Amino acid sequence: MNFVIAVDLEGISGVVGTPNKGFKNDNIQYKFACEQALREVNQATKALYDCGAKKVYVWDNHGSSLNLDYMSLDKRVDILAGVGLKHRFSGLEDKKISGVLLIGYHAKANTSHAILAHTCDSSKYQYIKLNSKTVGEIEIDALLATANINAPVIFISSDNMGVSQGEKSLPWIKSVITKHSIGRNAGLLKHPSTVLDEIYSSVKDAYKNINNMKKYKIKSPITVEIRFLRLEDAQSVSNSKTKGISLIDPYTIKYTINKIMELY
Ligand SMILES: [Zn+2]
Repeated sequence: MNFVIAVDLEGISGVVGTPNKGFKNDNIQYKFACEQALREVNQATKALYDCGAKKVYVWDNHGSSLNLDYMSLDKRVDILAGVGLKHRFSGLEDKKISGVLLIGYHAKANTSHAILAHTCDSSKYQYIKLNSKTVGEIEIDALLATANINAPVIFISSDNMGVSQGEKSLPWIKSVITKHSIGRNAGLLKHPSTVLDEIYSSVKDAYKNINNMKKYKIKSPITVEIRFLRLEDAQSVSNSKTKGISLIDPYTIKYTINKIMELY
């Protein structure tokens, strides 16, 4: 069986970021986050191969990608990297993926007191709703894994709030809580080494339960509602007169798509 490990940075153990900012490469913790992400990915990779996986693909997807030190990754993996992909999971369509693991993911935007919570871009969006429910990157990537590579999400690692949001939408997943959020930039952090041990055993557990994993879907057509941080953004989308987009208040646009792939 083949697997994809999608890697974000905000939910990696030990990471809390700094106030009023997204988590970028000028952050004091950026180097640590990349190094710890690498260790967490290598643990998950080892667990998958120890269980008998045939191939593991690592998708380096935080920010503009290119976060991980590829020479230090387990040399059995192939790496999906860079920007300008045709869609999320580009290049993996024909790889017969059995499961997707989300490592270092985080709670959705408009979650109070969750470490570095955001959806897609913390400087742009207050929330994204699909069919009237707010979603985060966990749900969006789970939907796109179904749509683009026909695979279920089987594992996530995140802070306690990201994990509980993930488990609500994807109750079959196995998970590891990397830290307990106290505020947007504060938490009670598990020791990063403890998290490595937990990832190894929880990923093995996910592999053993692969037959219980489900592909996440929602009803189509899909209503999309996006509330921007700045009203200029909502204004310019509505000024563009793209068919079917309506402005429901100065900050918020609404439109309908037939398939989740059309979200990007
Ligand atoms: Zn990120």
